[in-house]
Amino acid sequence: MALANITRAMVLEGPGLPLVMKSLPLPVPAARQVLIRVIACGICRTELHILDGELPHPKLPLVPGHEVVGRIADPGAPGGRFAMGNLVGVSWIGYTCGACRYCLQGAENLCEKGLFTGYTLDGGYSEYMVAHEAYCFPLPTGFDTADAAPLMCAGLIGFRSYAKIPSSAVKIGIYGFGAAAHILIQVANFQQKRVYAFTRKGDVASQQFAMKLGAAWAGDSLQTPPEKLDAAIIFAPEGSLVVKALEDVDKAGTVICGGIHMSDIPSFPYSILWEERSVSSVANLTRKDGSAFLQLASEFPIHTSVKTYPLLRANEALEDLRHGRLQGAAVLLMDPLTGNATPSAG
Ligand SMILES: [Zn+2]
Ligand SMILES: [Zn+2]
Repeated sequence: MALANITRAMVLEGPGLPLVMKSLPLPVPAARQVLIRVIACGICRTELHILDGELPHPKLPLVPGHEVVGRIADPGAPGGRFAMGNLVGVSWIGYTCGACRYCLQGAENLCEKGLFTGYTLDGGYSEYMVAHEAYCFPLPTGFDTADAAPLMCAGLIGFRSYAKIPSSAVKIGIYGFGAAAHILIQVANFQQKRVYAFTRKGDVASQQFAMKLGAAWAGDSLQTPPEKLDAAIIFAPEGSLVVKALEDVDKAGTVICGGIHMSDIPSFPYSILWEERSVSSVANLTRKDGSAFLQLASEFPIHTSVKTYPLLRANEALEDLRHGRLQGAAVLLMDPLTGNATPSAG
């Protein structure tokens, strides 16, 4: 199949501006890069933080998107990692130096020179994109769908957050029940955990969604759970939830902040941190996390609930995410670019 010489992409030209459709020259893979024909790209809350100027120094102009599922359209120089047509996923981690002190101690997620897909590298809101081959995840057959796209960040970052809590934790609170939570609850249930789902006040639809997915309890984030929790994972970008989660966890409880940006955390009495409770954040992910999660995802079927949008309607999808108008995850489809949105439940 002959390649087009352009790629249509939704482009951010500056913080605070809506994305605009552009026809860009087809990107040419550099050494150890591949060209990918994007099938689907999930929408992550991080995009809202980039659009709103809450994350500093994005590449500009920028093609956002870091939950990419696609096929290799140009495997690059001979002897590379992939062949034409291979199915791959691309996540937030786009490049690391391999030489800094973090990379050398197995913490490439903290690399001093790390580059991130759809933030400091162009991403997947585009028909085609290039990626460093070492940071593409080979995907099994059957992952060539919109349903697989949210696994690439909501799944992976959610899993890194989950992996940070002690394996002995059974009663786990999840604060913010969106794309990451609806995947993570399936992993937690598979491992015999009990999930307590906290949503925005009055968001009965998300609470029902959580219960349908097997939550032990669901309520709004101001409510006290029926029992003390062993651990809490916060996905909502709301700093006051750190305080609430500390109040909800039992002695030695762990609170993990899974997002890249959060509003300020209000001051709180030391007594809710005392008794060896702890608060930590998760930053980015390592390729090892990605492989571990994708291995787990192949051991039992993870079902994602997605609402699909054609690429051209990315702005609408982002606003639906911002205003909590969807359950699960929003995913952009490259083909057709302009068709009507077709909701599908996976
Ligand atoms: Zn993300
Ligand atoms: Zn490094």
